[in-house]
Amino acid sequence: MGEERSLNFIEEIVEEDIAAGKHGGRVLTRFPPEPNGYLHIGHAKSICLNFGLALKYGGKTNLRFDDTNPSKEETEYVDSIKADVKWLGFEWANELYASDYFDQLYDFAVTLIKKGLAYVDDSTAEEIAAQKGTPTEPGTPNIYRSRSVEENLTLFAEMKAGKYPDGAKVLRAKVDLAASNMHLRDPLMYRIKHTHHHRTGDAWCIYPMYDFAHGQSDAIEEITHSICTLEFIPHRDLYNWFIEQLAIFPSKQYEFARLNLNYTVMSKRKLLQLVEEKHVEDWDDPRMPTISGLRRRGYTPASIRDFCERIGVAKRENMIDVSLLEFCIREDLNKTAWRRMAVLDPIKMVITNYPENQTEYLFSENNPEVEGGDGGRELPFSNQLWIEREDFMEEPPKKFFRLGVGLMVRLKSAYIVKCDSFTKDANGQVTEIQCTYVPESKSGSDTSGINVKGTIHWVSVAHAHTAEVRLYDRLFKVEDPSNEDGDFKDYLNPDSLHILPQAYIEPDLANAIPGKGYQFIRKGYFTIDKHSTAEKLVFNRTVTLKDGWVKK
Ligand code: ATP
Ligand code: MG
Repeated sequence: MGEERSLNFIEEIVEEDIAAGKHGGRVLTRFPPEPNGYLHIGHAKSICLNFGLALKYGGKTNLRFDDTNPSKEETEYVDSIKADVKWLGFEWANELYASDYFDQLYDFAVTLIKKGLAYVDDSTAEEIAAQKGTPTEPGTPNIYRSRSVEENLTLFAEMKAGKYPDGAKVLRAKVDLAASNMHLRDPLMYRIKHTHHHRTGDAWCIYPMYDFAHGQSDAIEEITHSICTLEFIPHRDLYNWFIEQLAIFPSKQYEFARLNLNYTVMSKRKLLQLVEEKHVEDWDDPRMPTISGLRRRGYTPASIRDFCERIGVAKRENMIDVSLLEFCIREDLNKTAWRRMAVLDPIKMVITNYPENQTEYLFSENNPEVEGGDGGRELPFSNQLWIEREDFMEEPPKKFFRLGVGLMVRLKSAYIVKCDSFTKDANGQVTEIQCTYVPESKSGSDTSGINVKGTIHWVSVAHAHTAEVRLYDRLFKVEDPSNEDGDFKDYLNPDSLHILPQAYIEPDLANAIPGKGYQFIRKGYFTIDKHSTAEKLVFNRTVTLKDGWVKK
């Protein structure tokens, strides 16, 4: 962010419109989610684009719930969507619902019937499909197409009044059965669905189709730039046709490439399957590509906005590498995360020349990347420490700058120690190492003159707290699970969650702030999980310090 970049193609369009004085230079965009699932990182791209344009050009953005499909929509989803958009840092001008326009949409439909541009069709879905022709052959009109305006008005009113069962009739636009664009071959406008709606209850039993709701909602709100993803290109002619025939506000649709991210799936339908079949804990499982999952994992709004900015706005679909998303969160957390010490796979170090039962408090900065260190905390040091098992080797190779008998390291923020010996159990497992420390080597006032290459982290045994630490890997084993043979769930990574039931953490981490990032020195960035309690602390690893992922 902050870097100069050239305009994306949508910004170019907006700037041309402003320069031409179109709509008085006004910019009004909308973000139109269907409340049938939780938002994912793909939606974040659409949110950043729509809200970003308005912010950049002094405009506004509406949050409009596209709730025309009654069976799938739920209030839980509405609430989560609002929370996610806010969390990403955006404010909508108006919270709106396509269902608020049901009366007006009905009136629009009546207008088209009166103009001879819509008719009630009694055909089945199969008959309609068959009569539509193929891309190379025109469709064939059926007997209902020539119904009189009066008959259509009566039938449509009866449809609304609940006289007919689901599927008995539809309302279609009378456009062009020979159009090369199949979407213009008399598309459906309304279908009968005796289903309860989350907002309108049982007031309606006919519901408008997407194509007869979306553009009309845009026009009602006087949206200037209606931005959607590429799959809506074939709908654009119909979008314009309805607006022209109804002579309503001329909103215009523009399409950009949706975000595809590797090693995950992004369709809400698939994400719902993962939740319902318990492959993940919930929509906000930290492995999910949902906004709520990323939040729980420890992603920050700034990192997601930065990611959306970096991937840009394209006219052609491509696959974005998840390592770019990880790069963005590392960049952000490097600047904001407090450094802490935690030992994930412990062995004990005993410092034989340090007084037993003595505690020394060593000051350590929160973040050396920040000028002044961003404050700090006092780290308790004593003669027994937990260190990482991998920092000791029985037979260290050359250039192993950590511990083995005879080798020296610096204990971060503390002293230089030298390993003298170690102890093993009956299974040959190293259980303890014995060291001596160099009293004059204290960090910040080191007069020992000893130079060591390695620095390792540690936690005082007597002062350590324990925590469960959850390490995550990619949810899928393959880059594009939706594009593989068989079911996408066959490609789930069985090792996507690794739980360490008892890690040792420095005492200050018992006060970890929810939503804040912590760097466990040398181990990655972590954040406290939403289910963490004072009795049982739980940390999620947001991301490792470096991109260490290798293709399996
Ligand atoms: P899904 O296919 O994942 O269920 P959707 O397109 O049905 O998503 P909507 O709730 O209809 O989801 O989408 C709201 C807005 O977000 C739309 O404008 C849509 O184009 C946009 N959007 C959805 N997925 C992506 C994506 N992967 N990249 C960019 N924009 C997206
Ligand atoms: Mg949709």
